[in-house]
Amino acid sequence: MRVLVYGAGQLAQMMYLAAAPLGVIVSAVDVATETVVNPVSKKPTGISLANAIEEAQAITVEFEHVPEHLLVDADKSQKLYPNIASIMAGADRVREKALLSKYNIPNCPHMIINDVSQLDQVLSTLGERVIFKASRDGYDGYGQWRMADASDLDKLRTEFAALDLKKVPLVAETMQDFDREISLIGARDKDGNVKCFSLAENLHHQGQLHVSVAPITGLTESLQEKANKIFDTLATGMDYVGVLAVELFQCGDELLVNEIAPRVHNSGHWTQQGADTCQFEQHIRAVLNLPLGSTDAHSISAMVNIIGCTSFSRDLISIPGAHLHWYGKEVRAKRKMGHINVVASSHKALGDKLNNLLAFLPLEHFPELKAEAARLQAN
Ligand code: ATP
Ligand code: MG
Repeated sequence: MRVLVYGAGQLAQMMYLAAAPLGVIVSAVDVATETVVNPVSKKPTGISLANAIEEAQAITVEFEHVPEHLLVDADKSQKLYPNIASIMAGADRVREKALLSKYNIPNCPHMIINDVSQLDQVLSTLGERVIFKASRDGYDGYGQWRMADASDLDKLRTEFAALDLKKVPLVAETMQDFDREISLIGARDKDGNVKCFSLAENLHHQGQLHVSVAPITGLTESLQEKANKIFDTLATGMDYVGVLAVELFQCGDELLVNEIAPRVHNSGHWTQQGADTCQFEQHIRAVLNLPLGSTDAHSISAMVNIIGCTSFSRDLISIPGAHLHWYGKEVRAKRKMGHINVVASSHKALGDKLNNLLAFLPLEHFPELKAEAARLQAN
């Protein structure tokens, strides 16, 4: 069986690696050149895109910002999963907010801005602390502007006047004072069966994910159920097939949806070592109409992103339960180069292992890790 993935980055690579034991061959499409490549070597396979679409039993995406004409072509094959509307909702914050409203899913108070004159209402509607997000093509905190108080507004007005807000509106949101950021990764198959992984806790630095821990500390059944219900409502409502990620802000017992990602997600990488079935295999199973796997977490896991650096000691894999996943990309500032999964029997033991990990890493590239190790050790 063959699966074709639009996008040829690390997520396609990890789908390829997870699919191989099932006898499933994954090819990737470099969307910039519209070339079909091997997801690991990135070398062209020599097969045309049209033939690859023809040969595949399922077509999917590793990111939501695939050029629309390619999605429309893929959709014609009737093999595209998740469906095109779900992918486009994940790629456009205006559509995403409309989706959340449609299903009454709690999210941050917000306004859609398609003209700078609307900025006059921002203070009275959303308050002084506001985050502005470009509705399309943002990721890892790019395409975002923060207003700390009313005095920032004039500067932002000048900046936004230079943008084409009719074409790409902004979503302005109240800055939320959440307790923590968590995410739910789950999958839905073609028969409507849904399986969710344990909630993961996510630490961001400058808008970018640095560390995930799953299951979250202090996980209660009611919180997991609340998240699962949000997942179920969205996935069923969209007739979604595949892995879907839901990013959440936890405020006490309440969960607000920050955004959704119609694909496998960085905060689900822990499942490679910490869950019965990893998110990549689960996605392949879902899009090929194979039975979904168990999502049980058999360990407590941390996923540590390696961002913008190559200078660390590979000997970190001497730590029991530590696994390196390297993407083979050229280094650039803020670029995700790989990740380290660490599994342990408790949050405290995980904290000890993360503390050991510090010795192998240049800490300036891992600004959150020391404090996170200490937090977990205190459990
Ligand atoms: P991703 O890499 O997840 O695609 P992104 O750039 O698309 O990120 P968001 O997830 O919306 O954008 O925002 C990035 C981070 O900025 C969030 O994880 C959170 O830390 C912070 N953030 C976003 N929205 C808010 C908000 N309303 N209040 C407070 N913090 C926020
Ligand atoms: Mg996000």
